[in-house]
Amino acid sequence: MEGKLIIFSAPSGSGKTTIVRHLLGLHSQLAFSVSATSRKPRINEKDGVDYYFLTVDDFRKKIEEGEFLEWEEVYAGQYYGTLRSEVERLRNAGMHVVFDIDVVGGVRLKQEFRDDALAIFVQPPSLKILEQRLRKRGTDSEAQLQQRVGKAREELSYAGQFDHTLINNRLEDSLSQAEQLIQNFVRI
Ligand code: 5GP
Repeated sequence: MEGKLIIFSAPSGSGKTTIVRHLLGLHSQLAFSVSATSRKPRINEKDGVDYYFLTVDDFRKKIEEGEFLEWEEVYAGQYYGTLRSEVERLRNAGMHVVFDIDVVGGVRLKQEFRDDALAIFVQPPSLKILEQRLRKRGTDSEAQLQQRVGKAREELSYAGQFDHTLINNRLEDSLSQAEQLIQNFVRI
């Protein structure tokens, strides 16, 4: 049987990556959809594990060749996208595919895959807390950080297009809520 899609979307810094990693560690039937990006790897990020790191030119070529299920220029000059081949490979192997993608990409996948997809919006408790979290993470310059917060404000308006909104207040609560949602959806 073909696997299903479990989509986590959120403004970056909402804690969705932590939730996704936790879930992947719990169930061997869940597999992470490795996205492609044209941004530079951060320290500790590995090609083919965190992302497929591509040059802008290679990324654009793949867009032209129709290799993406969805793609987005999330920040100026920084492309992110879901490769058709990645999702097909995992689903054909009977895995449920877990996505950590931006809000617009999440809505696109949900619209395409409908009942085969569970779309979860992870919401930060407030924009102020989001900014504090991003600052603590320390991976962005001040300008990048302000860019992310500005984008987050706009992204919060998409929550209504998801199947569920998970307000990430206490991490332990969010983890168990996410587990429950997945359990109900795929019965693993
Ligand atoms: P980061 O640079 O922090 O890894 O990711 C920036 C944003 O891009 C995050 O919101 C992340 O979820 C999103 N993103 C990662 N992969 C994809 C993808 O394949 N498609 C889209 N649309 N967004 C993605």
